[in-house]
Amino acid sequence: ARVLVTGANGFIAAWIVRTFLEAGYTVRGAVRSASKGEHLKSLFAAYGERFEVVAVGDMQEDGAFDEAVKGVDLVEHTASPVTLVADDPYELITPALKGTIGILESVKKYGTSVKRVVITGSCASILRPTTETLVLDETAWNEPAVFDAKENGAKATPLNKYCASKVLAEKAAWEFYEKNKSSLSWDLVFINPPYVFGPPIHYVSSLKALNSSNQELYDTLVAGAMLNTNSNAWIDVRDLAQAHLLAGETAGASGERIIVSAGPFHWQEIVDAANAITPAPLPNIIKGTPGATKDKPYLYMYDTSKMHRIFGLKLRGMDDLVRDTLVSFAALKKE
Ligand code: NDP
Repeated sequence: ARVLVTGANGFIAAWIVRTFLEAGYTVRGAVRSASKGEHLKSLFAAYGERFEVVAVGDMQEDGAFDEAVKGVDLVEHTASPVTLVADDPYELITPALKGTIGILESVKKYGTSVKRVVITGSCASILRPTTETLVLDETAWNEPAVFDAKENGAKATPLNKYCASKVLAEKAAWEFYEKNKSSLSWDLVFINPPYVFGPPIHYVSSLKALNSSNQELYDTLVAGAMLNTNSNAWIDVRDLAQAHLLAGETAGASGERIIVSAGPFHWQEIVDAANAITPAPLPNIIKGTPGATKDKPYLYMYDTSKMHRIFGLKLRGMDDLVRDTLVSFAALKKE
């Protein structure tokens, strides 16, 4: 079978491409420009003609994916802006929304062989501000972020601007699907992860140019960046990629929004896990306050019963995640 993966040069997408190739698929990776596909071509050279790259330009343009969807059986749409640096929230909302609706429209028009579209959503579209432990499931929507972005524009919090882009893109996708369902030959699945960390295999020029989530991880390990922030939840990128494969193959995933999370964490726990590795993969890991969060309750917890029921995934633990990620960070240039 042939799968189209959008944003293929991204952190998560590169792992999705690898996972589908290993499972025997032919993969078409969509990137903005041909040059962004060069690293992927050498990374996946061993798969020969089973891997190809297509340049689609900026996905905000009408019909950007029209050619890319032709002849594929499955679409995995991951492309979306991932950054907390934006002034006007529409710098994030517009590309997220246009990319998502754009690919669905292209599939509707030209994806005659497509059976399913899997989209990378986020727990950003599920969580909401809290001061006490909150257990969230797939029925929750981050409406407060949308309110903040729409009401306060550039003055909305950086996180809410990103969250709003994920909520609005996901809602628009479900609306499109509900409206057109009777005339479509494909169904829709959303995979919603919390923080995604793991060894990068996409092109990274230096430890200052990691993707946003791994950058926060690295900046915390060497400089304590996130140490005093709230707990969150995480998933290993390799398990998330496996979930995207299963989302494409499992009948029971049809029409579902599925949280994929390994569990909650305090940043100090990641620092402690990093310090427990011998020999130390990186020379400059901070100590923080070891064990400080041992009895501290987690704020965000996700109900992952749907993930377990539909995918039955066995997930990696934090020690594996931290060790493998640090080993791959150690191979990158500092500047
Ligand atoms: P990356 O920044 O590594 O990848 C994002 C990809 O989207 C890149 O390939 C980028 O292309 C592409 N893209 C963004 N805007 C456009 C555009 N206008 N036109 C064409 N392509 C575009 O991010 P991640 O791998 O971390 O994230 C991938 C997905 O996973 C996103 O949907 C994100 O919201 C979601 N997610 C990520 C989490 C995380 O912790 N990392 C957590 C939860 C969800 P280019 O390189 O050319 O800019």
